[in-house]
Amino acid sequence: MHFLSDALEKYVTEHTEKEPELLKELDRETNLKVLRPRMLSGHFQGRVLSILSKLTSPKTILEIGTYTGYSAICLAEGLKKDGLLHTIDINEELQDFQKKYFEKSGYSNQIKQYTGDALDIIPILETNFDLVFIDADKPNYSAYFDLIIGKMNSGGLILSDNVLWSGKVVEPLDDKDKNTEALLDYNKKLKEDPRVETVLLPIRDGLTMSRVI
Ligand code: SAH
Ligand code: CA
Repeated sequence: MHFLSDALEKYVTEHTEKEPELLKELDRETNLKVLRPRMLSGHFQGRVLSILSKLTSPKTILEIGTYTGYSAICLAEGLKKDGLLHTIDINEELQDFQKKYFEKSGYSNQIKQYTGDALDIIPILETNFDLVFIDADKPNYSAYFDLIIGKMNSGGLILSDNVLWSGKVVEPLDDKDKNTEALLDYNKKLKEDPRVETVLLPIRDGLTMSRVI
């Protein structure tokens, strides 16, 4: 969902860092070969993730929801030299695709791929995090937050994607719509939790920044 007019969207993208060639290729191949390519972050949001990661300069990143690896590569751009990005996806069919692009990106020795349910994998990761990107199944956002909050380094950053859910968060709620219901609860929870300082940015489909106090 795009909240800006096409003309403004184009202007914004034209005045943003250009998309690296490898990520253009990853986007093209995702569109050709993978289901639901709209889930990929893409040029503008990818550059947002990259600059936020560079500003944070994280030693350890956790990504929940790798998909074809686009956002992982953007986030890896900001890692400290000896930093590590852990990325989890439940869909094992994506593993080879991700691996191929991580290798081409030059970050493969700094990226650890996990295949499985993030709810099972996060508890076995024996590390703290400086930056977390939550971008998997929406009904579990709140559970992911609960699993990571105790493992965040002070001053760390939690990014949560698609929090405006195509604008459905301000429309009348359909009882069967579990995603919107979950995101409404999640957005409220972030706002109220005293352990984080939260700003919801209306970027693309909504990207929340929560700084851990
Ligand atoms: N971060 C990617 C897009 C992620 S799309 C980008 O910006 O390019 C969401 C992904 O979450 C999908 O690939 C899906 O397989 C994964 N996912 C869904 N439920 C999950 C779960 N319980 N554990 C881990 N990954 C999950
Ligand atoms: Ca997303």
